[in-house]
Amino acid sequence: MNELRQLAKELLGNGTVKVIIGYSEGTTPERAKPFIARTEEDAGKLIFNKYCVNNLAVYLTRKEFKRKGTIGIVAKGCDVKAIVQLIQENQVIKDDVYIIGMNCGGVVSGFGVDDTAVKCNNCKVKTPHLYHTLLGAPVETPAKDDGHLKLIQKLDAMTAEEKWSFWEAEFEKCVKCYACRQACPLCYCEKCIADKSMPRWIESSAHTRGNFAWNIIRAFHLSGRCVGCGECERACPAEIPLSLINRKMGMVAKKEFDYSAGMALDAPTLVGNYDTADREDFIK
Ligand code: SF4
Ligand code: SF4
Ligand code: SF4
Repeated sequence: MNELRQLAKELLGNGTVKVIIGYSEGTTPERAKPFIARTEEDAGKLIFNKYCVNNLAVYLTRKEFKRKGTIGIVAKGCDVKAIVQLIQENQVIKDDVYIIGMNCGGVVSGFGVDDTAVKCNNCKVKTPHLYHTLLGAPVETPAKDDGHLKLIQKLDAMTAEEKWSFWEAEFEKCVKCYACRQACPLCYCEKCIADKSMPRWIESSAHTRGNFAWNIIRAFHLSGRCVGCGECERACPAEIPLSLINRKMGMVAKKEFDYSAGMALDAPTLVGNYDTADREDFIK
């Protein structure tokens, strides 16, 4: 904690960064909240612990920060993947961000409870793959049971009718609050397709048909882009297992195109890259 505060103080003091997007203590010591440090004094409020769940990369595309000079950001490995993907998509200029990478042993998925988030069970970026300064000691944690993978395999084994029933029951719970979109660092469109009314592509009421349209369209828009940070699922008040969809799409991107979102800064994006040698046999 001290090294983070010291570094933040230096970066803000010598003008390397305009602000630092990080975490401060929440309403209890078992909670953390996003915090913008603007002064050397603010730097003293920064924290980093297992309650620092939020993917702060979501703020990098907000107009308050975009193109406002160099922004410092406290980032776990999974958050760095989002930053890399944003740079690949030309939404963040590489030189406009100073990444304070944090070695990470996992975060909790709930509020104040000691349940490690599923995404942390077999994480490959506990030491971030890109940073300007790396803080904290590498954390070794034993690999755990990957609950999501088992569920995806179970879904893969279902018939089309069974899959439909499963997702119909899940999407029926959707209240169209769009918290999933707001929490997602890769959902940065100024005008989301869900908000367009001329024509209206997606029914705005929380009706099963519109709920399907919303969740399936969002899944396609995130395919090959989702970095698996889990923020959409964490934000969803209806507890819809959105990670199952996103992760499955990521698995397809890996299998079909050998592409992993947010891992290679200089690689072209999956959906933004065209090659005459691209396969077409999956287009039916
Ligand atoms: S997924 Fe990895 S980097 Fe992200 S919080 Fe979990 S252990 Fe940390
Ligand atoms: S779709 Fe969900 S898991 Fe994927 S990047 Fe967005 S918030 Fe993270
Ligand atoms: S957060 Fe959940 S309930 Fe809200 S729009 Fe997204 S899927 Fe629907």
